[in-house]
Amino acid sequence: MIDLIKWDKRFMEMAKLIASWSKDPSTKCGAVITDPNKRIISMGFNGFPAGTSDDMDLYQDRKRKYRRVIHAEKNAILFAKQDLSNCKIYVWPMPPCAQCAAAIIQSGIKTVVSVKCDIDKTSRWGDDFQEAIKMNKESRVEYMEMTLKQEKKMGTNYYLIDKERDEEYHLGKSSAGWCFALHVSPEENIHDLSDILNKIKQPSKHIINEYGDKITTEEFLEIVTERAWKNNADNITDLFLKENQAETGPNNLLRSKIDNVHCIGHGAGTYDFIIGVFV
Ligand SMILES: [Zn+2]
Repeated sequence: MIDLIKWDKRFMEMAKLIASWSKDPSTKCGAVITDPNKRIISMGFNGFPAGTSDDMDLYQDRKRKYRRVIHAEKNAILFAKQDLSNCKIYVWPMPPCAQCAAAIIQSGIKTVVSVKCDIDKTSRWGDDFQEAIKMNKESRVEYMEMTLKQEKKMGTNYYLIDKERDEEYHLGKSSAGWCFALHVSPEENIHDLSDILNKIKQPSKHIINEYGDKITTEEFLEIVTERAWKNNADNITDLFLKENQAETGPNNLLRSKIDNVHCIGHGAGTYDFIIGVFV
């Protein structure tokens, strides 16, 4: 199940990337079609047909735009070079409209994966999406909604996985606005980032975050040492700092106060040394 979620997430990230290729300044949608073996069959974004004018004025003129535009889902279906029976379509950032749902049903696609979106259900598009969901039900096309968690906003734990020994080591935690909580363990001779990097170097090991995504050593280093926060630290009151056993740190970040119970020191950068078990 976790593996399935991981792939769904990857294809949704891809649909999100493809959406950014659309020239439409107001709505950028992307779609990715995969086969049951998780191979990408086709992709598409919303835009005018190839060879027709893609003048910006046409995108600004809503009436003419709606007449000409091909939605991402339809483009992905049209570009596919093979039978789409039992395939899956990932759409970003909103569910398929009724017209695209019709094309999806006719193509033989069996599953639609969309992201949760807060479109007003009473708006024009809201009605359209509701109709599409009804059509999926009638034709037994599975409809799923997922959320993409955003590490940068929410923060996550990082783990070092040792495939050979089937072990994991908690490397630490990122939280928005805080220095990285680097998990050190003096009993195991892990005192600083350099000790952790030595541990990571072994070829049987790799880093993952709590969503199961693989993280490279470079990405991990960046997360630990190049943290910054745009909010002004002036908003932080003395009471807040006291209650959270925190103090202000570099780059507008907060950091844990050294208490030798939880935090045993501050790193030479945007990280603190945290001991014991924490999540
Ligand atoms: Zn559509």
